[in-house]
Amino acid sequence: MSFKGEIDANCPNGCEAFAAEVWSFIHGERSPELRDALLWRECNLIICPGCGAAFVPEAAFVYLEAGAELLAFVFPASYRDREDYWRGKMRDDFSAMKRTLGGELESIEEPELFFGQEGLGELLQREDYRGEESEVMEHVARELGLGLYAVSRAYARRHEVPRALPYVQRPGRKPGVEAVVEGLRRVVEANERLSDCRSFLAKLERGCPLPPERAAKPA
Ligand SMILES: [Zn+2]
Repeated sequence: MSFKGEIDANCPNGCEAFAAEVWSFIHGERSPELRDALLWRECNLIICPGCGAAFVPEAAFVYLEAGAELLAFVFPASYRDREDYWRGKMRDDFSAMKRTLGGELESIEEPELFFGQEGLGELLQREDYRGEESEVMEHVARELGLGLYAVSRAYARRHEVPRALPYVQRPGRKPGVEAVVEGLRRVVEANERLSDCRSFLAKLERGCPLPPERAAKPA
């Protein structure tokens, strides 16, 4: 579940501080409306009771999307001056969360750090864009009778690799680079708009290794 915490909010117009409830933990899969708010950069937007100004107060929050292998710590933009300190704090908090939350965090190796919600909003936009291309590719691959190799979501995001890779199925054999190269050639031939697949095909042809497979989906 997502949950809120109470903070003292300071209006940018210098009005008297006031108590406000803002999201401190966002579960992106269970609260899709909060994920949307991040896409619009309107997460935790509040209104000053004194002057009516809308603003995002200085408050940190954590965003979790376990299926995407994504955990993000979002600190206020003004904290950026002490990035090393906050990165250390994030690592400590992450270790503590792993001990208490366990299961859902198993797929996450390293959290992402942002100052202000802009960076996380951009990341989610790229995720959605990549997801759309993936859906089209998977449909094409199935029509061509190709297998699908699920890539680690965190790896795919950091290395700009498609979320799934098509491969030519050969009985009794795990897909190797050659089978994936052939699979990619067939899907880009069938649909010229699959630009992520096209650029990754070029990388594989230059000798880039196959990305790690996606871990089993967390329960
Ligand atoms: Zn105000």
